[in-house]
Amino acid sequence: MSNAPPRNRAPIDVSTWSDAGSREALALVASSVAEMVGFEIAIISVVRGESMFSVAVEGRSGATSAMIGVATPMSVVAPEFERADDWGRFLFVPHERLGPDVDPAAGWWIPDIVPIDAEDAWHPLDLLIAPLYADSGSLIGLLSIDVPTSGRRPDLHQRHLMERYAAQAERTLRLAVEREELAERIRLAEAARRVVRFATSLDDVESVLDDCRYPLLEAFRADYLEIRTYATTEPAELPEAGSPPTGLPAELAEAIRTTARRCWDEQEVLVIGADLAHGRFVDAETNARLIEAHTLLGMSTSMLVPLGAAHASIGHLLFGRKDPAMAWSSDERAGILDIARDIGQVVVHSRTLAREQRLVAELRRLAAYKSQVLSMVSHELKNPLAAISGYVEMLESDPGITGTGQLSLGALDRATRRMGRLVDDLLVLSEVEDPEATVPTSLLDVRPVVEDAVELMRAAARRDLDLQVRAPEHPVLVCCSPFDLDRVLTNLVSNAVKYSPRGGQVTVSVDEGPDHVEIAVSDAGIGISPEDQQHLFTEFFRSTNPRALAQPGTGLGLTISSRMIERNRGRIEVESRLHHGSTFRVVLPRPATD
Ligand code: ADP
Repeated sequence: MSNAPPRNRAPIDVSTWSDAGSREALALVASSVAEMVGFEIAIISVVRGESMFSVAVEGRSGATSAMIGVATPMSVVAPEFERADDWGRFLFVPHERLGPDVDPAAGWWIPDIVPIDAEDAWHPLDLLIAPLYADSGSLIGLLSIDVPTSGRRPDLHQRHLMERYAAQAERTLRLAVEREELAERIRLAEAARRVVRFATSLDDVESVLDDCRYPLLEAFRADYLEIRTYATTEPAELPEAGSPPTGLPAELAEAIRTTARRCWDEQEVLVIGADLAHGRFVDAETNARLIEAHTLLGMSTSMLVPLGAAHASIGHLLFGRKDPAMAWSSDERAGILDIARDIGQVVVHSRTLAREQRLVAELRRLAAYKSQVLSMVSHELKNPLAAISGYVEMLESDPGITGTGQLSLGALDRATRRMGRLVDDLLVLSEVEDPEATVPTSLLDVRPVVEDAVELMRAAARRDLDLQVRAPEHPVLVCCSPFDLDRVLTNLVSNAVKYSPRGGQVTVSVDEGPDHVEIAVSDAGIGISPEDQQHLFTEFFRSTNPRALAQPGTGLGLTISSRMIERNRGRIEVESRLHHGSTFRVVLPRPATD
């Protein structure tokens, strides 16, 4: 009798086990054992989880190579070890001592022979097996021999030979198992590498999980893989992601989640088999649900892997295999935990990105709304303002109004003009802050724009002010909106003039860097305190310095200027010392030369 059952279930495809060289070596050992020891049948099986399956079969008398890959549950073989005579490496169970479960259907192959008429005759139900062990002492396989050519139980000479061949079979199987483990580690390392590669892609969670799916299924030789991340409410609401719903009843799906969370806390993988005994953190009820879930999914063995990052469990992977003989190896269990940590990082990464994108969209929406309101209010103010200044003008030309009447009209006129400037600035602000607005740009020389802004100020400024321009002889090109650049330079030069004392000096210089153009407006005026510099580009900010407040202004000029330069892909920098003066620098990228 041998441990390979007749064809009562589909054989395992052993070509997926170890390499062809190892399988050939084992086949050679099996045939040498049979031939040299004088048996018709020799089978070498390898242990895989709860079963063992034959990887090399040498046989006549009906045991054929078709028996390769046939699995026998360990629960059928192991009890016979107890009943056996100890023959050294071999264990012999005479047929009269066999257990009650010996049954071809349970995993035994019984040769079709009639015992000879002798006291030491071999009986078809005699069992002769040599357990094969790894260096560590764990059982890795079995050498089983059957049907002696002599028709008799082996004599001492044969038993001596059998010892040697069992040792050889053990050495060969150890090597094969080691090679298999090595190949497995390489496969897992490859899967980890591929998963980590996806980690650098800044995709959304769904596509990251989708990308991981195939390499994982392939590397873990799984028939089923559910990848799931759980919905979050904090810090932002994010929906579940991953494989489509399994269709499992809600309480079973919940049992999987609860267990995955515990698995993350324990940093463990949970293998679910036909009879998962509830472990340290799975209670009896959850245990029953997990088994039910995995049975409903049609799996023989499953592996639940937690996904998480830092202290939070964020999802799970549920692998399934249909073949009961394909147990999850310790390398696989350790490897997948590492990979799952990487996936956890990727998911957190993508989720953060999704949250940021949402936030940006929300901010854009708010900015658009703000600019709409600004624009509406300024338009609404424009008409009544125009009416007021019209009437003021009319009254001013009335010769009947004199004295205090004239003075009041003058004050009204100044206030109306101030309001007019404020409304104009608000309108421009609403336009530059509109995220939907596009700005037409062109290739232009900055020097005439600078000259125009300075000339305008020269005409308006006090005579004692020294206004200088320093620019290269050749054109200095930038790609930007001429309207924006003109408005920004006018604002900066007018501020420099406004906040300079009598006899002050303002210089506008144009310089070219390797990849940028810099326009600096410098004054030796009242300067700006470090605290005030923090807020210069905030709407309606006006200095706390009384000398600055003495000048008229809306506090919108610099805000508008910085938004304009930003939308032309540049920036404004400021350098200032209180009571010594300020320099505002506009930095714009140089246009590409080709
Ligand atoms: P406004 O000049 O209309 O008040 P801005 O936005 O142009 O508005 O300027 C904001 C504030 O920055 C000013 O009120 C002033 O206090 C300060 N500031 C701007 N430019 C200068 C400068 N060249 N020197 C000193 N202070 C300045």
